[in-house]
Amino acid sequence: MFGKKKPEVLVVGAGPVGLVAALTLARRGVRVQIIDEAWRPTAHAYALALHPASLALLAELDIAGPVIEEAYQVDGIGLYEGTERRERLSIGTSGGVYPHVAVMRQSSLEGLLVDALAEHKVKIDWNHRLARMTQGDGSVAVSVDKLEKDTTGYAVTHSSWVVASGHDFDVPYVIGADGHRSLVRRQLRMDFPEVGPAKHFAVFEFATDFDFGHELRLVLNETNANVAWPLPDGNCRWSFELPGYDAPKDQRHKDRHMYELGGMRYPQLEEDNLRSLLAERAPWFDGSIGDIRWRLVVRFERRLVKSFGADRIWLAGDAAHMASPIGIQSMNVGIQEAHRLAESVADTLQGKADDKALAAYEKERVTQWRQLLDLGGKLKATEATPEWLRPYASELVMGLPASGAELDGLTKQLGIEI
Ligand SMILES: Cc1cc2nc3c(=O)[nH]c(=O)nc-3n(C[C@H](O)[C@H](O)[C@H](O)COP(=O)(O)OP(=O)(O)OC[C@H]3O[C@@H](n4cnc5c(N)ncnc54)[C@H](O)[C@@H]3O)c2cc1C
Repeated sequence: MFGKKKPEVLVVGAGPVGLVAALTLARRGVRVQIIDEAWRPTAHAYALALHPASLALLAELDIAGPVIEEAYQVDGIGLYEGTERRERLSIGTSGGVYPHVAVMRQSSLEGLLVDALAEHKVKIDWNHRLARMTQGDGSVAVSVDKLEKDTTGYAVTHSSWVVASGHDFDVPYVIGADGHRSLVRRQLRMDFPEVGPAKHFAVFEFATDFDFGHELRLVLNETNANVAWPLPDGNCRWSFELPGYDAPKDQRHKDRHMYELGGMRYPQLEEDNLRSLLAERAPWFDGSIGDIRWRLVVRFERRLVKSFGADRIWLAGDAAHMASPIGIQSMNVGIQEAHRLAESVADTLQGKADDKALAAYEKERVTQWRQLLDLGGKLKATEATPEWLRPYASELVMGLPASGAELDGLTKQLGIEI
C-alpha cells in the first residue's frame, strides 16, 4: 500500500482540507499518505468561493495562477435590507495581494490540488477507509480498509462496496480531515456540540443572464438572510434561509421528491418555489432562469469541536467545525488551518519545533472559531454602524466571505467591532 518507505503522516480525507494538508507536507519533504473512502476524486461542488487569504495561500502552494484564470472575481458585496439596496462593501481593503474573492467550484479546486500532489509524486489512495486508530507512545496505530466494488445478481446486477483487505500499521502523526462525520474525531471521543441553532436554506443553482457586476448580493430581513453568488460559467447560486422550516419526517414514501447530495437526502424544490422566493425577497433580480441544476433544502449546522486534537492526532476543516454557508468560512478557514497544521507537524518531525507548536495550533484555532461563530457575543454594532444594519450586525459578520485581516477590513466599513 505505501511502497518501500512508511509514511510519517497519514492524512484521512481528500476533500479540500486534506488535500491542502498533504500538499503542504509533500512540499516540506515529509512522507505523506492520503486516503479517502470515496471511489473517485473531485466529486464535490458545494463550497464555491476562495477568500483573499485562501488565494494568498494557494499562491504559496504555486497553484493560484490557474485558480485566478478559471474563477469569476467578486470584488464587492451588495447589501440589501429587504428589497432595498443599502450599501456596497469593498473586498480587498486590507492591502493583501488579492483584492477579491475568487468564485470557482470546490470540485475544480480539488482537481488542481490532486494534480499538484501528483507532481510531488503523492498518489491519493481512493477507496481506502480509516477503520480504527489508537494513540500509542510515539506513534498512532491505524487500521485502514481497502474497499472494492462487489457486483452480484442474476437478472439485475447489484453493486455494493465491500472490504477487500485490511492494513494495520503505525504512523507518527494523523491529520483528520475527514469531514463533518469524522471518524478520527469520534475515535478521539471528542464532543462536537452544536453552538447555535441549525438553519435550513433553499438552495437553487441555475443558468442566468443576470449581470452581477462582480458583486455577491446579501439580502437581510428581520427573520432571514439570503445570498446570491455569481458562478464563472453563466450560472448563479441563490441560498434562501427558511426559518421554521419543518423537514419531512417520513422520507420513505416521498422518494421522487428527494435529492441525493454528499451521501445525504434532501427535499427537492420546484421552479415555482424559486420564482416566489425571488418575487418576495429579491424583486430586483431581473435575470433569466435557465436550466436549474440544484433545487433543494439543505440543513446547515453550527458546530465547534471542544479541542482540535492532542499529542499525535489533529483535526482540521469540517471535522472540527461547521458554519453558515453564506460566507464559505468552513472550507476557507479549513484550508488555511490545514496549511498551518501541516507546517507545525513538518517542523516537529524535522526537529525545528517541539510539541508547543501543536499546542499553539490548538489554542489559535479555538480562538479564531469562537470569534467567527460569535461565541463570546463580541460582535458589536457601534455608533458608526448604519442604523438599519444594527439588528443584523453579528449574523452578518458570520456570513461575510473573509477571515482575519480581511474580515476586519469589511467589518470596519460597517462600523462593527470584533
Ligand atoms: C451537501 C453539502 C452542501 C454544502 N454546501 C455548502 C455551501 O453552499 N457553502 C459552503 O461554504 N460550504 C458548503 N458545504 C460545506 C463544504 O463542502 C465543506 O466546508 C468543505 O467540503 C470542507 O472540506 P473538508 O475537506 O473539511 O471536508 P469534506 O469535503 O467533507 O472531505 C472529507 C473527506 O473525507 C472522506 N472521509 C470521511 N470519512 C473517511 C474515513 N473514515 N476514511 C477515509 N476517508 C474518509 C470523505 O469521503 C471526504 O472526501 C456543504 C457541504 C455539504 C455536505
